[in-house]
Amino acid sequence: MQEKYIDRMQRTSHLSGGSVSYVEELYEQYLESKESVSEEWRDYFDSLVNGSATTDQDISHQQIKQQFFELAQKKKVSGTVSLEHETKQVGVLELIESYRVRGHQKASLDPLGLMERRQVADLKLSHHGLSDLDLSTQFQTQTLYFGKETATLKEIIDGLNKTYCSSIGAEFMHIVSSREKKWFQQRLESVQSHPAYDKETKMGLFDRLMAAESLEKYLGAKYPGAKRFGLEGGESLIPIVDQLIQKAGMYESKEVVIGMAHRGRLNVLVNILGKKTGILMAEFEGTAEHGLGSGDVKYHQGYSSNVMTPGGEVHLAMAFNPSHLEIVSPVVQGSVRARQNKRKDKTGDTVMPIIIHGDAAFSGQGVVMETLQMSQTRAYKTGGTVHIIVNNQVGFTTSRKDDARSTEYCTDVAKVVEAPILHVNADDPEAVLFVSQLAADYRYKFKKDIVIDLVCYRRRGHNEADEPSGTQPLMYNIIKKLPSVFSQYSSQLIEENHTNTAEVNQHIEAYRAKLDKGESVVKTLVDNPDKALFFDWTPHLGHTWHSDGDTTYDKQELVKMAHEFCSVPEGFALQRQVKKVIDDRLKMANEEIAVNWGFAETLAYASILRQGHAVRLTGQDVGRGTFSHRHAALHDQKTGETYIPLQHLSNIEKTFKIYDSFLSELAVLAFEYGYATTNPSTMVIWEAQFGDFANGAQIVIDQFITSGEHKWGRLCGLTLLLPHGYEGQGPEHSSARLERFLQLSAEENIQVCVPTTPAQIFHLLRRQIIRPLRRPLVVMSPKSLLRHKEAVSSMDDLANGRFHNVIPEIESIKPEKVTRLILCSGRVYYDLLENRRASGAEHIAIVRIEQLYPFPEDDLYNAIKQYKNLETVVWCQEEPKNQGAWFSTRHHLKDAVTRHIKKLKVHFAGREASAAPAAGYIALHVKQLKEFIDQAING
Ligand code: AMP
Repeated sequence: MQEKYIDRMQRTSHLSGGSVSYVEELYEQYLESKESVSEEWRDYFDSLVNGSATTDQDISHQQIKQQFFELAQKKKVSGTVSLEHETKQVGVLELIESYRVRGHQKASLDPLGLMERRQVADLKLSHHGLSDLDLSTQFQTQTLYFGKETATLKEIIDGLNKTYCSSIGAEFMHIVSSREKKWFQQRLESVQSHPAYDKETKMGLFDRLMAAESLEKYLGAKYPGAKRFGLEGGESLIPIVDQLIQKAGMYESKEVVIGMAHRGRLNVLVNILGKKTGILMAEFEGTAEHGLGSGDVKYHQGYSSNVMTPGGEVHLAMAFNPSHLEIVSPVVQGSVRARQNKRKDKTGDTVMPIIIHGDAAFSGQGVVMETLQMSQTRAYKTGGTVHIIVNNQVGFTTSRKDDARSTEYCTDVAKVVEAPILHVNADDPEAVLFVSQLAADYRYKFKKDIVIDLVCYRRRGHNEADEPSGTQPLMYNIIKKLPSVFSQYSSQLIEENHTNTAEVNQHIEAYRAKLDKGESVVKTLVDNPDKALFFDWTPHLGHTWHSDGDTTYDKQELVKMAHEFCSVPEGFALQRQVKKVIDDRLKMANEEIAVNWGFAETLAYASILRQGHAVRLTGQDVGRGTFSHRHAALHDQKTGETYIPLQHLSNIEKTFKIYDSFLSELAVLAFEYGYATTNPSTMVIWEAQFGDFANGAQIVIDQFITSGEHKWGRLCGLTLLLPHGYEGQGPEHSSARLERFLQLSAEENIQVCVPTTPAQIFHLLRRQIIRPLRRPLVVMSPKSLLRHKEAVSSMDDLANGRFHNVIPEIESIKPEKVTRLILCSGRVYYDLLENRRASGAEHIAIVRIEQLYPFPEDDLYNAIKQYKNLETVVWCQEEPKNQGAWFSTRHHLKDAVTRHIKKLKVHFAGREASAAPAAGYIALHVKQLKEFIDQAING
């Protein structure tokens, strides 16, 4: 009779597996009160009890419950497909998905075991309608890449735990592209995140870890207490970088550019780039050779070398780095892009960037977001960067918990570009190796950024002289007792019979012997590097700004080029005002009207292109120009298509690239610095929307542009166009903070120029690339002068002129009558000119200083020496007294003036010192202008 009930139960889909307990509960209720369960259940339980009664056997309720259970088990084994099973199958699929999404939150990532790991509800069976009772049930694996179609729930969970919750925590499910998500699933699940590495690979890992640890120990013993920002606790970084480089070689890349802050830098320089340890020791001992500049501390130094990989020789470049932790990231991007462009590589396959970050800086510093944001834009993409976070879980002395960030992981910022993130426990070297391989493969396949979060620790303090347990006592209690990753891994390999203690010691001894000899320890280092792999800077070494180039250009050629860049394809519909600009340019070429700024600038680029140089111009809205003067990119009014006339000049080999930048100054300027310090033959220009926006990039100006050559011997021909001029627009859009650039000027580090005519900008831009000198050029560029009727030039000025550091008086004023000399820079000249004309004064000469630094003392002297009867000299500026050129230039003015007439003094005429750069009220602005112009003219 029982069979009858069992049959019924078998037909009752809800009676299986996890629902047994539910049925039991209902049955208990039924026993207490028949009415408390639904009619269907009542019938069912009735039939059970009645059924047992008809067998004449007294069947206990316990037995009935046991039947429920057995029946459920039987159903699982027989694999009968039921609705219940199907529901559970859905639960299994949900569970698999949950592991992919949130498995990383359960992974064992922290070698110290301190990482806060909250319970993840989605990873529990009950969350998906499953229970332990289902563990032996066979389910379809469906999307899982475990290599079999069905598996028991236990097998599935074990596999998922192994894949997603052991030493690797993979975050990739936030990526929108299903293709990419599937790629990760396939790569991780097919080996359950544990590829079986052979002995050779394991011994290779062993060797890298041994080198990483031994170097730190060696330096620590030899130079106790000396700052080296050691890698102890994060030694696994070395196998990662090593693997990435090997992979880059396999993908036939020719160069790898690395950017990193100080932690572990010496280790990477010695163990990856093959810097000779003798040089490093000399740096520790303070006996290293230094050039003419200030030099920099050893843990900021860059380095270059070539190493052999399975795919051939690869050039490695470690970027020089200031102490500002993250700023090197966009510099590296710029350097990589320059190298890729040289190879005409549009996909990023030939050069790979690797950037090594600290956890606190990665989550804390805004330039990280800016750099990530640029990674897929036209102007800045480099085919994907591999970011490595040396996550030692403490920022100097600031703890991760509560203070260092608001997000769970330091890497969360990378999700801004959907970058996959591979967290990995640094004490599991094989997991580390696996994520390195994945990262490289992903980068080359999808051309996008990827992040490796190497969760490690810092065995010592922030530096070697620092005691960390004062601020992180619990963490350091654990660290003290923790064996190093190398010692853990060598024990593992000994256990696996891949090596033995004697062999381990031999390896260490051999490595130390190399260090003692001062040799390079990198076996793959190429002794005679292929120089063709990198740019040749030798033609640019050893020049001073006195070596002017010839910036003249054949007039007929200029005219021809102008006609070329003033024509657009047949049918191209120009916007009305733009058409007027183009028509006017043609008139300028034909000498029907005077040359204006936009035309002269465009001709400068055209002539530079013709002379074999590429031009790269970026910045916010540069295509049109903030003040609508450039129109280098034209837009068809019917189709929206863009046409860049300078890209269609005849007889040019190199490219004209112009990109509107995304709304960043810091990363963008750093990128252009990186580009310009890598490629000496491209004219690289960054234009600020307004000059004061350069404030946002002050770190780049201070720590790279003005001091990079001095600190690191890196030349840089970058040009900055910074719109500057007091035109009543208020405190924010008037000043490019000229005073800051002048204050940073020393030892001829940069050129600061304030051109006031179209011919001046033509020759200034040409001079910057034509002469071999590569030094940054900072241009206070105009706004209203772009259209000022007096600020014009002739085609002859362009063809036959040069850049004048000083422009002498231009009007026919008799020198002997001149008793008053006004010196000035920039647009204020035109106000002075107008006022002098209005006053009819014949005793005033006005001389413009167009290059404020390096100060052209001889040129100024030559411009004023004809004025023998001078009585008064005035420096007139539109900026307030505490700003502009006055304080940093007056000694130069005085030198030139007193060289001419000893007793002369230089007086100031300008706005009173002011906290804000300019007045916000137009009436006040005009009043101030009138007053100081009057003061300059009339005294
Ligand atoms: P890199 O490819 O950046 O490693 O540079 C290769 C070599 O070119 C360096 O070792 C330097 O000798 C030289 N070099 C690269 N960039 C510059 C620069 N901006 N100024 C001077 N020399 C450079």
